[in-house]
Amino acid sequence: MPNTPSTPADIYRIRVAVPVHLYDCFDYTLTAEQYRQAEVGARVAVSFGRQNLVGIIVEKLTADTPIDPRFKLKAITELLDDQALLDQKILSLLTWSAQYYQFPVGEVFQSALPTFLRQGKPYNLLARMWKVLDLHAEDKLTRSEKQQQAYKVLKLHPQGTTENILNLAGIETATLKALEKKAVVQCILEHQDFRPQPVTLAQMPLTANEDQKKAIQQVLKAQKKYQAFLLDGLTGSGKTEVYLQIMQEVLKQGKQVLVLVPEIGLTPQTISRFQSRFHGNIVLLHSGLNDSKRLQAWQAAQTGKASIILGTRSAIYTPLPNLGLIILDEEHDLSFKQQEGFRYHARDVAMYRAHLENCPIILGSATPSIDSYALVEMGKMTRLELNQRAGAAVMPKIHLIDLKIAQKQNGISQSLIDEIQKRLDRKEQVLVFLNRRGYAPVLICESCAWQAKCPHCDANFTVHRQPYQHLHCHHCGSIHRLPEQCPQCNHSELKPIGLGTAQVEENLQQLFPHFDVIRVDRDSTSRVGSWQKIYDKIQKSEPVVLLGTQMLAKGHHFPYVTLVAILDIDSGLLSVDFRATERTAQLIVQVAGRAGRGERKGEVYLQTLRPDHPLLNTLIDKDYRHFARQTLKERQAALLPPFRYAALIRCESKSQEQNQEFLQQHAQALRQASENLIDVWGPIPAPMERKAGRYQAHMVLLSQDRARLHFYIRGWWQNMLHQKPSAMKLTLDIDPQELS
Ligand code: ADP
Ligand code: ZN
Ligand code: ZN
Repeated sequence: MPNTPSTPADIYRIRVAVPVHLYDCFDYTLTAEQYRQAEVGARVAVSFGRQNLVGIIVEKLTADTPIDPRFKLKAITELLDDQALLDQKILSLLTWSAQYYQFPVGEVFQSALPTFLRQGKPYNLLARMWKVLDLHAEDKLTRSEKQQQAYKVLKLHPQGTTENILNLAGIETATLKALEKKAVVQCILEHQDFRPQPVTLAQMPLTANEDQKKAIQQVLKAQKKYQAFLLDGLTGSGKTEVYLQIMQEVLKQGKQVLVLVPEIGLTPQTISRFQSRFHGNIVLLHSGLNDSKRLQAWQAAQTGKASIILGTRSAIYTPLPNLGLIILDEEHDLSFKQQEGFRYHARDVAMYRAHLENCPIILGSATPSIDSYALVEMGKMTRLELNQRAGAAVMPKIHLIDLKIAQKQNGISQSLIDEIQKRLDRKEQVLVFLNRRGYAPVLICESCAWQAKCPHCDANFTVHRQPYQHLHCHHCGSIHRLPEQCPQCNHSELKPIGLGTAQVEENLQQLFPHFDVIRVDRDSTSRVGSWQKIYDKIQKSEPVVLLGTQMLAKGHHFPYVTLVAILDIDSGLLSVDFRATERTAQLIVQVAGRAGRGERKGEVYLQTLRPDHPLLNTLIDKDYRHFARQTLKERQAALLPPFRYAALIRCESKSQEQNQEFLQQHAQALRQASENLIDVWGPIPAPMERKAGRYQAHMVLLSQDRARLHFYIRGWWQNMLHQKPSAMKLTLDIDPQELS
């Protein structure tokens, strides 16, 4: 039975989203004075259990709000902001996200704040300077080393030091505040300028072609209201130019534009295209920023100072007081979906945000997702087509090479080698694509067929030769020595089988000794700035062979590449995941799209053991859009997403039997509760059943009625969490993108 407050101390209360892995917000009391100052959307320091945490105020409660008897009411520790950091629209977006993805609300709210603010540091951290007031205060200090250390450092810098730098040097703000109370040091606020900076055109737009003009006009007609557009434009058809011209109009009205790109899409190349078109405040928000840079960029966005916000997935939760347009480029890209923890899909959240903000949103891609095509069919999205490559460029032709009959050298067919040689002799660039890092995916014994397997996973070890010879499991990260002989039969010939990029690099260098071979993958670009170096080289019209993984497939513009070679995508043709063909088709078209983007025509060679595979033939004889229409029909016939809504339960423990039994029991309960309105698949062992020593099982829930699916899952899921054995890990993935 809820009670109403009885003592005056309970009258002033706020509801707080506290960053803990729980599904509720929690109420705290505060004084009348604090209550007056408290703003919804501001931060507050609270104690929770034994922890001191930074939460966000979501509601100021009135005196008649019942008190939840399950929890003891506590007072807040301190209000941290005198104004809201998160506006009403972002608060609604976060609340909706927590409900839709059924994820703990306090943790979802954390997505909207940069690290420093999450840690409770002051909003004006970057402007706070600390300075010594009393140069002879040694006797005022406590014996604590913290105060003495802080005092010593500050005395070395009589002009003052920013709080940020002091924090980085291990001096805590609490220590500084203690010294401030003793009048030993003082804090001075430097002026920070958050006035909006007008944007000007730095470069004339290109003359749009007919398709581009039509697309631009259609979006501009929808300004100031919600409408979703799918910009379906072939690779190299000038989608970016369309974005830029639409942005120009929106910026003219003094509005902000949010541009989301895939994780890897935020290359210097993309950034410079926006910076060279517009003068003004463009900020970047991505995972590579350090905490101060991130706070600075976030504040520029949140105050309205920045006009263009260019970011990856998580930037969708940035508060923007003046948002006028959202652009999400390469919308098919899987990196928009967070694959752990709070598993949101930035594409879907962006659609909802545009709706809340009442502004248009453009999703762009040369290979739109089947999900987006379905929305077009349902009339929820307007499709805009770009059908010609901009300038003189034409679409490349794809040739298949049958690996079963081809003559090969080190896994590369002779005809492909000849074609590469021809291009290099003509001083053109070649791009070789292989989506597998390392030296070789398998190490096998030539005598007894033993294979090197990870002891913790159902997976082979990958052979790496750099920086030294070792075996590496790409699933759990474990590393082992390369055995000198077979552990099973003691035979001394262990052979690496199959190709990884590191091996292909060696092979290509041997085959084309007079040309540069540049490898672009996570192993070779992990150093800061290395990507910029590679990119500079690519922009010079020198003959080189570029070798890379998925990183090379995305959105890049390589004007001198005239040949693209795809060495092996066969695993994508055989996968059990119903989305695998969609992903493979997108990958082929995107990689192929890197060819012939300049004046010279491009060609694509694809090696395969399955030259008769229908997917390949559809892409070669017809095109991606034809493939998409066909896939859409198949999904509809099979009632697969997006024609039914899905949720995936992942279950992980030390025993597969335990997983199965537990899921089985709850599957039954859900079938009964929903009167079979929810279709339950499984439980089944996950495609990789054992990973890092633990067993994985899956269960998929499907329904044509999204609201009903979410309704039934809600209580059921909470129930499962309460009943699960403590060593079992359960996760819920709403609208899953991968069944692994
Ligand atoms: P997409 O993003 O669709 O792959 P891009 O926007 O990268 O295509 O455009 C490919 C190339 O075509 C770029 O070099 C771009 O400058 C050029 N381009 C785009 N639109 C036009 C146009 N209207 N006239 C001339 N060149 C254009
Ligand atoms: Zn052996
Ligand atoms: Zn492993």
